[in-house]
Amino acid sequence: TFISFEGPDGAGKTSVLRAIVARLQPVLGERLLLTREPGGTGNKIAEAIRDLVLDPANTEMDKKTEALLYAASRRQHLVQTILPALAADKVVITDRYVDSSIAYQGGGREIGTDAVTAINDFAIEGMMPTATVYLDIRPEVGLNRIQTTRQDEVNRLDVEALSFHQRVSEAYHALAAKDPERFLIIDAEQNLDAVIADTWAALAPVLDL
Ligand code: C5P
Ligand code: MG
Repeated sequence: TFISFEGPDGAGKTSVLRAIVARLQPVLGERLLLTREPGGTGNKIAEAIRDLVLDPANTEMDKKTEALLYAASRRQHLVQTILPALAADKVVITDRYVDSSIAYQGGGREIGTDAVTAINDFAIEGMMPTATVYLDIRPEVGLNRIQTTRQDEVNRLDVEALSFHQRVSEAYHALAAKDPERFLIIDAEQNLDAVIADTWAALAPVLDL
């Protein structure tokens, strides 16, 4: 089973994932693989691309170069990490996958969702998650959370205007509308315990728990 977690900045994705994994670990043990994008747990090549793409010093990076690097990192992550784990009957949970590129590079950076979908089709060859947990939060609420709780991220995020995050959010909602079976939409404006409870309730049937 292949699960992705998605959401805009400040949705609480990291905290929710940590709690879900803590509950799944005793049930699944070695059958659980938690990984993340860009990069991927134990994936040297994909992590090297992550370092390149997330390095704030790389200010001259072209946005299409960035989109191609995300897609390249994703392909390596898929082939080297995700597919072997799925073949071994593991439950793979990835912190971000292709929807992030369509939302951030396609919507946020305005490359266009069709163009970003096309390069990612080449990279993933139809390999989509069984289910995608989408932590839904209004962009202004998410940004406000980050500004009050995560000083270390403020500088980088300050570079992107609210309008950037609004385009990210719109692109995510368009994806969810196109694929309502796959998207498990969670109200992430609730308190953390409620978000975790809703996420667990949505995932349990997918994982036969
Ligand atoms: O998942 P996390 O919150 O750690 O993501 C960090 C940042 O990486 C996001 O806020 C976003 O700016 C960036 N990102 C991106 N395009 C992707 C994936 C992540 O711009 N495809
Ligand atoms: Mg984050």
